[in-house]
Amino acid sequence: ASSEQDNDVVVIGGGPGGYVAAIKAAQLGLKTTCIEKRGALGGTCLNVGCIPSKALLHSSHMYHEAVHAFPSHGVKFSQVEVDLPAMMAQKDKAVSNLTRGIEGLFKKNKVNYVKGFGKFVSPTEVAVDTPEGGNTVVKGKNIIIATGSDVKSLHGITIDEKKIVSSTGALALSEIPKKLVVIGAGYIGLEMGSVWGRLGSEVTVVEFAPDIVPSMDSEVRKLFQRTLEKQKMKFMLKTKVVGVDTSGGGVKLTLEPAAGGEQSILEADVVLVSAGRIPFTAGLGLDAIGVQIDKAGRITVNERFATSVPGVFAIGDVIPGPMLAHKAEEDGVACVEFIAGKEGHVDYDLVPGVVYTHPEVASVGRTEDQVKAAGVDYCVGKFPFMANSRAKAIDDAEGVVKILAEKETDKILGVHIMAPNAGELIHEAVLALHYGASSEDIARTCHAHPTMSEAVKEAAMATYDKPIHI
Ligand code: FAD
Repeated sequence: ASSEQDNDVVVIGGGPGGYVAAIKAAQLGLKTTCIEKRGALGGTCLNVGCIPSKALLHSSHMYHEAVHAFPSHGVKFSQVEVDLPAMMAQKDKAVSNLTRGIEGLFKKNKVNYVKGFGKFVSPTEVAVDTPEGGNTVVKGKNIIIATGSDVKSLHGITIDEKKIVSSTGALALSEIPKKLVVIGAGYIGLEMGSVWGRLGSEVTVVEFAPDIVPSMDSEVRKLFQRTLEKQKMKFMLKTKVVGVDTSGGGVKLTLEPAAGGEQSILEADVVLVSAGRIPFTAGLGLDAIGVQIDKAGRITVNERFATSVPGVFAIGDVIPGPMLAHKAEEDGVACVEFIAGKEGHVDYDLVPGVVYTHPEVASVGRTEDQVKAAGVDYCVGKFPFMANSRAKAIDDAEGVVKILAEKETDKILGVHIMAPNAGELIHEAVLALHYGASSEDIARTCHAHPTMSEAVKEAAMATYDKPIHI
């Protein structure tokens, strides 16, 4: 066994939380080592999450547009077909370019990168089993746990990544399934359902809860569900899976109403289990040093990301809060700033959420349901993309902007956008909320014409006054 030199900061996990923390720490002049077990940096997000899913969403959208939208724009092909291996290769290339890019950023910022599985031996020492079969001990004055999350399995359903897949398997199917059943109507299930639906699969989403994406504003959610149904995605809500039979060629699922009742059978070629994610701390040795976790397995931290053990911190998916890459990155920067003796800050009320279907759904701040429940007097402004000139010009006008503002002060409380590029449009609203803007502030900001962003301005006008174009 060898021993790595003393570090100011050691980061366990090279995902968006960990690698960003490591780079920021090095930029702040701290001697930093990052330990990662998977052989590539970027974590879940780059390797089996955000990036490959967005690559496939884009490729499948192009195919879908070529078949369904191009002819009406006067672009005709004699034949359009899917070359699935080529589509997967493009996704894999995007992933490997980006993960290698992070290695480059580590070199540039002088972050020491240790490949292997890390395990605490003391609050200042991490033993690493290297891929070559060796062992090294990495020492650090401060250690940040950024080990992320893993797929949540469902009782009685064994994921084989062939017929019954997790999101990881759904990103790498070798054939387009005729029938795909998605268990769980969260954003990952809907995104992956969209990918395969666009490529020709018949997609049924089974969800225990009465609604899809529970965190979404309920009015926008209804529109969104209708849109997905128009795209031929089927929903079986308030339904639970009580049995799985993989003995035949495909999969037979036994379903039952959530409240109990008559059972039914649903057949599929492939079943995607996307019922959430759980914090990943297996084998990390948290018990040995006494790091506390909560009932859900998340590491307990204070507002400075400190765990119950002095000098040991935790960030990202492994602590409470939205399990999103950008939230993990914000955690990473703030945590390292605290370690460096500076002030860090993350506003968890203003973490945007995006579902990257088509149209996309993006939101920031509070939903109407939350505002109502809080008993706040509020105004609502809405503007449909059907009345937005750019959306009409490109014939992609399904969606709406919805703004909620406090009645008395006009201060914006929440913004919800369903639009082809809602994930980009939302940032005007994120910034507005950060600055405590009123809807009139957005309405009186000159927006370029013709852009989708004008719908945000018009919705803002509708919040405190009247819009022009509807
Ligand atoms: P992770 O990215 O999970 O990284 C943790 C890393 O730690 C892993 O690489 C793991 O190998 C390593 N590790 C764990 N234990 C050890 C150990 N003991 N020693 C060494 N290394 C270890 N989020 C978004 O914001 N936008 C999206 O569009 C989006 N799409 C997604 C799509 C899918 C299909 C999935 C599954 C997730 C998606 N997410 C998305 C969520 C996002 O991937 C996570 O929120 C994010 O990756 C969390 O970052 P993290 O750094 O906390 O953990």
